Amino acid sequence: MIEFFGVSKRYPGGGTALEDVSFRIPAGQFAYLKGPSGAGKSTLLRLIFRELTPSAGRIVVNGRNVTALPDRQVPYLRRTIGIVFQDYCLIGRKTVFENVSYLPRILGMPMSERRRLARLTLGRVGLEHRLDSFPHELAGGEQQRVAIARALINEPELLVADEPTGNLDPGLSEEILRLFVEIHRRGTTILLATHDPNIVHRPGDRILVLEQGRLVRDRWLAGTDGATGTRAAGRPPAGAASVPEGT
Ligand code: ADP
Repeated sequence: MIEFFGVSKRYPGGGTALEDVSFRIPAGQFAYLKGPSGAGKSTLLRLIFRELTPSAGRIVVNGRNVTALPDRQVPYLRRTIGIVFQDYCLIGRKTVFENVSYLPRILGMPMSERRRLARLTLGRVGLEHRLDSFPHELAGGEQQRVAIARALINEPELLVADEPTGNLDPGLSEEILRLFVEIHRRGTTILLATHDPNIVHRPGDRILVLEQGRLVRDRWLAGTDGATGTRAAGRPPAGAASVPEGT
């Protein structure tokens, strides 16, 4: 669950990246954060996992007041959030297994248990056979799937992704988006930033649009279209057909 209350962010010496942004994403929602390059999407995501702190306003993520969180508590916040970046951010000299099981290792999980968990999680992205490969041996789409497995290994409540298909061609982008849909189906809340205009949304999706740091649109495809996005979360009807944004 993510709540923003009147959040603004100004970079030192820079302009205003976010201006008075308020919204609430309830647990279980699939939310897209859209808007042109420079609109403030990355800034908003980095505020969620406390890579940045806001200049004004308050942020609550998975029940924690992120704004007031002492630095020593930040790792605990991040264990509840899976994070996926556009450029995968895998460590080149480490195997897929080592990349994926970084967090279980620092949490002290024994090697045999880590192997089992890594194989299981890589299975969710269709790459269990790549456990001992190095990132450079994988195609771009596969590298992103490894990065998604790394984000999922701790069963996070929330998955945050910043342009996860930005480096992929359309076919592979679709494949990665299907993976996010599957992860969402299993109960994970998702916030996915993208400026890809070709995404086909499904009933139940939430669409937040930023322009020049302001939240200019907040649309929930189950039936509401309001600026406040206050309608309670719900699941899309079973078997509902895909609908393009704007319907
Ligand atoms: P988006 O992810 O939508 O492309 P960003 O959040 O990266 O947008 O950027 C929003 C605005 O903040 C842009 O005007 C950008 O130039 C500015 N910005 C981003 N990072 C910094 C920074 N570290 N220092 C100064 N300005 C920044």
